[in-house]
Amino acid sequence: MKKDFTWKKIKSETKVVWAGETKSFPYNATQPPTVNSVAYTYKNIDEWMAVAKGEKDGHIYGRNTNPTVQILEEKIALLEDAESATAFSSGMAAVSNTLFANLNPGDRVIVGKDTYGGTSKIFLEFLPQFDIDIAFCDTTDINAFEKEMNSKCNLLYLETPTNPTLKIQDIKTLSNIAKQTGSLVVVDNTLATPINQNPLMMGADIVIHSATKFLCGHSDALGGLVCGDKKNVEKIYHFREINGSCLDPSPAYMILRGIKTLALRMERHNENALKLTEWLSKHNKISAVFYPGFSDHPGYDIAKEQMRGFGGVLSFLIKDELSISKFISSLQFAHAAAHLGSLETIVGPSKTTSHVENTPEERSQLGIPENLIRCSVGIEHIDDIIQDFDQALNKI
Ligand SMILES: *Cc1c(COP(=O)(O)O)cnc(C)c1O
Repeated sequence: MKKDFTWKKIKSETKVVWAGETKSFPYNATQPPTVNSVAYTYKNIDEWMAVAKGEKDGHIYGRNTNPTVQILEEKIALLEDAESATAFSSGMAAVSNTLFANLNPGDRVIVGKDTYGGTSKIFLEFLPQFDIDIAFCDTTDINAFEKEMNSKCNLLYLETPTNPTLKIQDIKTLSNIAKQTGSLVVVDNTLATPINQNPLMMGADIVIHSATKFLCGHSDALGGLVCGDKKNVEKIYHFREINGSCLDPSPAYMILRGIKTLALRMERHNENALKLTEWLSKHNKISAVFYPGFSDHPGYDIAKEQMRGFGGVLSFLIKDELSISKFISSLQFAHAAAHLGSLETIVGPSKTTSHVENTPEERSQLGIPENLIRCSVGIEHIDDIIQDFDQALNKI
């Protein structure tokens, strides 16, 4: 299949299946090959040199590029409407490479308050070692953000929805303000996925994904992705090829296979999470539910504008804090695990999942209550999920 069409007109449901996969593969295989070779041989030295210099398509060495990984990069770039993409060994490798490739001593970063635990650790512990100033800001408050912007800002880092309290950041407004001083805007789009949200189309410069979550979808491969224009991606790619946090071909294949059902899965995740939110919000043992698709959520209006669906992750507070472990261990169809974005429903207190790397003081500083339970709602039938939550809540 070699068709010349503009991908811009193609819908996401088709892109997840075909993007990066319309060329012919070796042996006329219909599926992309997992190319395990680390080195590539050239009888013609001139051709080798041309590939090495980037004048001709091809591969030299596995730490730089790999054919299987390249198909994944093409797929995610098309899904995010990005010029280019590059892949990493994990989501955190994507986050740290993006930051370290773009920041210099003396720079100042503004970061939205409750970012993923590992990400917040980079801001709290590692970047300050290189004389980079970090301002944690409640970026849901535009006035507070504008005040922060009065001092210098080289890079604005956002997650939306945030993990685990599902705060919504106004990507368009924040990007507009940040761009006025020429600062780079980075958005972690892991929770939304390109099915629900495309930050580049709202003014972000760089989009990051932990491919380990919804993109892979089956909890069996780690990976990270960065998307953006050629110039921005090239800079991050160059840092990655030197420090070596490249994605291996086998997990790249697993992630490629996972993405093929992403649109179908997200449809179900979106639907199930909204129904579970509505049910939990009426339960007398629950004191609060956080989900951006819930009309009570403070970010609901912005979420409705910038998202096509609200995702599979929600969080809630149980009134009786001491009953958390009884509740979680009573669930029959939910893994108690530090993960999200899988086929199965997954629950866990934030202090042992997304923010296990942080101290109680750091969690409090980041606005994460100790009795918060995060739930990544799976693709099971919603009646069974609700019934399971009901019997577990009745046990406490
Ligand atoms: C999990 C996660 C990451 C880190 O990804 P890994 O693949 O685990 O390294 C980054 N950001 C968000 C929002 C995540 O949920």
